[in-house]
Amino acid sequence: MEQTFIMIKPDGVQRGLVGDVISRFEKKGFYLKGLKFINVDRPFAEKHYEDLSAKPFFSGLVDYIISGPVVAMIWEGKNVVLTGRKIIGATNPAESAPGTIRGDYAIEIGRNIIHGSDSAESARKEIALWFPDGPANWQSSVHHWIYE
Ligand code: UDP
Ligand code: MG
Repeated sequence: MEQTFIMIKPDGVQRGLVGDVISRFEKKGFYLKGLKFINVDRPFAEKHYEDLSAKPFFSGLVDYIISGPVVAMIWEGKNVVLTGRKIIGATNPAESAPGTIRGDYAIEIGRNIIHGSDSAESARKEIALWFPDGPANWQSSVHHWIYE
């Protein structure tokens, strides 16, 4: 089954949104396969966002990500990469639909609460970077109540 990398950014942690974010993914039916509460350093944040290194907002983005602890997670389920992006909402909260995490809780693009992998390929890279030991090995006992 597909996996994605989700990170609650420092603003999401500071604003007490960790439980809400986890709850949305859990209630949907996705399985939590990795969870870490950590501070990352500048080189690590630059590596995570390396595809954006030429963008004008890159150094501000890195400052933001290293400004406090983040919650890094692996979530698993059918289509979790794309569906996770829908749960999160558009990059700019001004354009994120109400009902999405960014649409409900954020105002500005540089304080948009949460990261989610944008493709299965990015998810593989990000999970390898953040969870070198790989995902936790467990199976939900309610699987057949979620999947037909
Ligand atoms: N970002 C920003 N200004 C921009 C575009 C992006 O500060 O003009 C930040 C924003 O926090 C975003 C992150 O850079 O979440 C990564 O950008 P990306 O385009 O990958 O958006 P995402 O995949 O997070 O929706
Ligand atoms: Mg992205």
